[in-house]
This record gives sequence, structure tokens and C-alpha cells, in this order.
Amino acid sequence: MNVLISGAGPAGLTVAYWLRRYGYSATIVERAPSLVVGGYKIDVRGAALQVLRQMGVHDAVVAAHTDMQGALLVDKEGKVINRMSGDDFGHRVGGDVEIVRGTLCQILRDHLGEVELLFGDTIQGITQSSDTAQVQFTKNGVREFELVIGADGLHSNVRLIVFGEESRFLRDLGLYLCVYTVPNYLNLDRMEIQYSELGRIAAIWSSRGDANARACFGFAAPSIRIDLRDRVQQQEALRTVYKGIGWEVPRLLEMMPTVSDHRRLCARRRTGGGVRHSFARFRGIRERDAALCRSQSGAGTQIGKVDEVRRKEVGRQLAPQAVDAENAGPHDGVDYQSLHRADHPSG
Ligand SMILES: Cc1cc2nc3c(=O)[nH]c(=O)nc-3n(C[C@H](O)[C@H](O)[C@H](O)COP(=O)(O)OP(=O)(O)OC[C@H]3O[C@@H](n4cnc5c(N)ncnc54)[C@H](O)[C@@H]3O)c2cc1C
Repeated sequence: MNVLISGAGPAGLTVAYWLRRYGYSATIVERAPSLVVGGYKIDVRGAALQVLRQMGVHDAVVAAHTDMQGALLVDKEGKVINRMSGDDFGHRVGGDVEIVRGTLCQILRDHLGEVELLFGDTIQGITQSSDTAQVQFTKNGVREFELVIGADGLHSNVRLIVFGEESRFLRDLGLYLCVYTVPNYLNLDRMEIQYSELGRIAAIWSSRGDANARACFGFAAPSIRIDLRDRVQQQEALRTVYKGIGWEVPRLLEMMPTVSDHRRLCARRRTGGGVRHSFARFRGIRERDAALCRSQSGAGTQIGKVDEVRRKEVGRQLAPQAVDAENAGPHDGVDYQSLHRADHPSG
């Protein structure tokens, strides 16, 4: 059986692995020109760890973990008001492991084996018959598959093509997140600093092996709609929402890149309440964020990896046999790194 998967994120790569392991032939189409690396750091917890073990990638993921040593919460003058260990800040317990999303994808990809990967392409249309789906690609012409899996994220293209406008299936919570790369001008070493005001959070971190740092903004803006494909609008919105805010925020905003390092600038509406459909209508399934989008931080990846219901759906469909910039000079302000070391000598 030939299966097409849209999206080479954690969900698409994972499902491709399992399909191949059960003897199916998988093709992944990914919109980006190459595997999307970098991005934010995500925690893999609980049952997902077991899935990593079953896939034989657990050790590689642990070896590549972020090794975050701690986090400092600061006030608007940059004065430290709370210090936490990396694990406490990430609510990690036991064997929970934090890894940069792109690093996880790289590991999953390296472990895939023979799976066809079509980068820089996307599905334009799907025509279904009783036992096949004819897929029109933007660049790769028309091809026939027996099953199409939408693993193309929160704003799933497959969902759009097959089920219609995403506004029918997503609930807009009015929350946005933006992550971009900045020089590690605070000389952070596996450390995160976070500043928050009501409805607005700003943070900067640098994880293991990263010569740069990431600036992250999370804010509530239910009354404005930011077009996630309009980069200029996203930049303006960010500057407007964070106008007059304290700490390092003005400097971080000045460092906002003019070209994207992670898909788009990355202001991303948080949504929830993905809707399930009658699978009889569609010769395909959707995975993880394309299907459920229950969380934007803390559980998304593991839901994608272990959601038993999804696996049963996969099983039913496939039955019977299966279920940067260079570092700037040292910052002349607070030495956050040594402040943290004083509190966490082992860090
Ligand atoms: C700041 C932040 C922190 C998070 N922290 C955690 C955490 O601690 N733990 C956790 O488990 N989860 C966390 N999440 C959620 C987690 O990142 C997602 O649940 C997970 O990435 C979903 O994987 P996915 O493969 O379904 O979708 P994505 O990761 O969105 O991947 C989708 C892929 O599809 C591709 N694509 C998109 N459109 C198309 C198209 N038209 N054609 C082809 N390809 C396409 C994209 O380029 C991408 O490669 C966090 C999310 C954010 C934003």
C-alpha cells in the first residue's frame, strides 16, 4: 500500500517510520525546501518516551537534549525575582526530556530508512475514488495513493482541501507566539530569562550547542487578527503589542530579523478544539496538530506520538495487518549567567 503523508514534522516523520516498519510504502511531501530545523524547545514526556524507545531513537534524543540549566524570572529593570532549575521551569520529572523541535525532526528523519521525501512541494488537490486518492502536487504532477495522511500542522493543508476552511474546525483563542533567532548578547549558556506583564510574556534563551539565542514572545490579542502569512503585519503587530514594555524587550524587538529562520516569522495563533470527522468521507487521516491541536506547549508532540485513538484510526484504515547572526559583544548589563550559577552551583 502506498501512503502519502503531508508534512515532515514530528507527526509525519513518526507515522512514516511506523508505516514502513509495518511494511507499507510511505512518501512524505513537505512544503519547506528542506527539513525544518531549529525552532523552539519541546518537552517529551510520559508515554511518548516509551514510543521513542520502541522506535530506537530514545538514546539519540536524550543525547541531544537541550541541557537547560535554569531560568530566571526578571522584573522590568532586569532584577531577578525568581530562579528555577531547568527541570522545574519546564515541569520535567523522571525521564522527561527537552529537545529543540528541529533536532527531534532531524533524529526522526535519520532513523526513517527508505521513505520518499518530496521537499519544497505541497498538495494542491485530492480526488478520491473508492480505493485510491489521486493527488495533484504543485511541482510533482499527479500521483495515486491509497491513503493520504495530513500531518501538516495546526493550519493543515490537507484538512483545508478535504474538509474546508479551518475556521470551521479551529477555535481561535486569541493567543500568539513568536520565536526568532537573535545574537546571544547576554552570553546565556543553557539558560532562559523571562519577563512578563499581564497578557504579554517575553523571553530569551540559549540551549546547548547553539551559538545564538532565541527570542520568544507570547501574547494575548483577541481583538486583532494577525495574518500568519503576512510577515510585515506580524512584525508591526509585535512592535505594537510590546510598545512601552520593560526589560530587554525594546532591544529584542530591534533584533527582529527581516528574513524568517523558522517558516514564517512565527507569530502563531493558538487554537484548540480540533474537530474529528467521519473518516468514511475521506480516504485519509490527519495526525497530531492537523487533527487535534490540543496544546501549544507541553503535550503536543506526545499526543502526536501516542494518541491511541489515532493509532486505532490508522489501524482501521490500514487493516487488517497493522495498526543566525554572529555573537555580539558581551552585554554591559546584568550577568544573568553568573547570577544563576551562584544559585545553582552545579549548573
Ligand atoms: C512554543 C511552543 C512550545 C511547545 N512545547 C511543547 C512541549 O513542550 N511538548 C510538546 O509535546 N509539544 C510542544 N509544543 C507543541 C508541538 O510543537 C506540536 O504539537 C508538534 O510540533 C506538532 O507536530 P506536527 O508534526 O503535528 O506539526 P508541526 O510541528 O506543525 O509540523 C508540520 C509540518 O508540516 C509542514 N507543512 C505545513 N504545511 C504544509 C503543506 N501545505 N504541505 C506540506 N507540508 C506542510 C510544516 O513545514 C512542518 O514541517 C510546543 C509548541 C510551541 C509553539
